[in-house]
Amino acid sequence: MTPQPKPVELSAAAFERAKQVTPGGVNSPVRAFLAVGGTPRFIKQAKGAYLTDIDGNEYVDLVSSWGPMLLGHAHPQVLSAVADAAQHGTSFGAPTEAEVDLAAEIIDRTPIEQVRLVNSGTEATLSAIRLARGFTGRDKIIKFAGCYHGHVDSLLASAGSGVATLGIPGTPGVTAATTADTIVLPYNDRPALRSAFDTYGDQLACVITEAAPGNMGVIEPAVEDGIGFNRFLADLCRDHGALLISDEVMTGFRVSRSGQYGLDGVGGDLMTFGKVMGGGFPAAAFGGRADVMSHLAPVGSVYQAGTLSGNPVATAAGLATLRLATDDVYETVGKTSEQLRAEVHAALEAAGVPHVINNAGSLFSVFFVRDGVTAVTDYAAASAQRTEAYTAFFHAMLADGVYLPPSAFEGWFLSSAHDSAALDRIVAALPKAARAAAQA
Ligand SMILES: *Cc1c(COP(=O)(O)O)cnc(C)c1O
Repeated sequence: MTPQPKPVELSAAAFERAKQVTPGGVNSPVRAFLAVGGTPRFIKQAKGAYLTDIDGNEYVDLVSSWGPMLLGHAHPQVLSAVADAAQHGTSFGAPTEAEVDLAAEIIDRTPIEQVRLVNSGTEATLSAIRLARGFTGRDKIIKFAGCYHGHVDSLLASAGSGVATLGIPGTPGVTAATTADTIVLPYNDRPALRSAFDTYGDQLACVITEAAPGNMGVIEPAVEDGIGFNRFLADLCRDHGALLISDEVMTGFRVSRSGQYGLDGVGGDLMTFGKVMGGGFPAAAFGGRADVMSHLAPVGSVYQAGTLSGNPVATAAGLATLRLATDDVYETVGKTSEQLRAEVHAALEAAGVPHVINNAGSLFSVFFVRDGVTAVTDYAAASAQRTEAYTAFFHAMLADGVYLPPSAFEGWFLSSAHDSAALDRIVAALPKAARAAAQA
């Protein structure tokens, strides 16, 4: 029996109304479902592992707000921390002790020595790039194709996430001059890096990389001759006086207590964080070596600021989230992820759908590859996936109450609220979705 499509009239009406007042009807492109088609669900509420749309349909959520909701939605202790903070005033434009607590918590979990709080991952990476240039006195930067670091002008060359989803090569509005100092290389490509450093070594301010890419689907940093890609980058940067910026906005505090650092032991001279550390509020951070961070205003001359930076409500949400994100949480989410990956693999195998599942800790993604492809290690390989198979799979899962990322270029995000009931619901939906992918 074909699944009865759920009624989405209210979402459809809201989307029409939204498109009148907002370009594409959304405030961030991937939300518009352009890559998969259909009606974006307008959300009324979320609790634990579940989303409810305004038509009253309930979904197991595998997007988790694109990462932040590690503890599930509306966690009671996070909510009470938020309510308590709000009671005491929502913004002061003056320092608070809670900001110091949050900074200390981040430093305790990661290799960084000092941190500054900002409002978004975009702000974190653009500030880190500015600081790297100010510190080294050099202009050029290296980024990797398919890595997404927010919508920073100089980093919107061959970017992942929505840029990949919509197939935008660069973006109008970013001038050639702005990206002239950005060198884009294929991820995991060591010869290309060696050659770029041979040519530009003394002009390079930094290499910026996702600690484990998650915005072209998940790509694992490859290990060659016992040396991981992040270690290779760190060594290359150090040898040439360039800084390594490890972007852990997605992976930080999600794939382990610290992030990808907890998995391969390589931090950056500078690191960026966001998503989980904001607990569902606009908060992010960048930090690193104290000698580099001391170049920031007001101690140093590299300017960086923010009216709402360290906002007390966002800080309370982030601090509560991190304090609740114990080793137990990471173990639970890790196990759930392992189970789900095995179930997805089994269902796709049974339906004869060629696929590759990559993971960084509990974060994973499923590539619907062409016949004979056994690994996806960079953006070229990620781009060659059969997005039409993902689209069919996505809609079958959605019809059966599972909300996957509406793009083949995104990771699947679990939370500690995804219990066996939530997992059962996902597993029950898999066989039909796998058959739909097989027919696409
Ligand atoms: C989400 C993300 C960003 C941008 O963060 P925003 O808060 O959306 O600006 C930067 N880097 C990575 C790796 C991300 O996943």
